[in-house]
Amino acid sequence: MRFLINKPIILFAFLAACSQTPPELSAQDLALVASPPPEVLARIDAQAPAFLAAMNAAEAVALGQGRPLTAAETAQARAVGVQRPEMVRVWVTSKFPGDTPGFSFRQVGGLTTGYAIHVRPKLADAPWLLVHELRHVAQIEEMGREPFVRRYLTEQILLKGQLIPLERDAIARSEAVLGESSPDYAF
Ligand SMILES: [Zn+2]
Repeated sequence: MRFLINKPIILFAFLAACSQTPPELSAQDLALVASPPPEVLARIDAQAPAFLAAMNAAEAVALGQGRPLTAAETAQARAVGVQRPEMVRVWVTSKFPGDTPGFSFRQVGGLTTGYAIHVRPKLADAPWLLVHELRHVAQIEEMGREPFVRRYLTEQILLKGQLIPLERDAIARSEAVLGESSPDYAF
């Protein structure tokens, strides 16, 4: 998932921050994510089913509508760790799954729901976004769908306002494959 800064006033507000590397997470931050407080686990328990259901519904539509990866994209998918790139479908659509607990989709430019990658039309030809989302495919393959959702929600809740580890991983791996830094993002 990638949060785009697409409004001038927000861009201005984030300009200074985006010109720098996001602040590192502290050991305390990482320890918190590794062992979330019981009240946070309860929130995840409450939020995860609805999020998974929305993810599954979106996945079913996008797998049927999307295109397979090209040969070059398949190579990029393997480079970021995707085990089954032939399963991936890219679905260019202006209609993303609606808001679900823990997420605001308003500024999301790409969304991976499993093997389906949703991409906004304005970003249909943005390799950096596709490779970023392909890393999320690999994360979901490695972790499983439900653990991925729980982990994403946990990081979002506990590290609110920071660039979360799952996104740091996706950014680092995609930038390494493409050999260039990605466009601006909020963190
Ligand atoms: Zn992402």
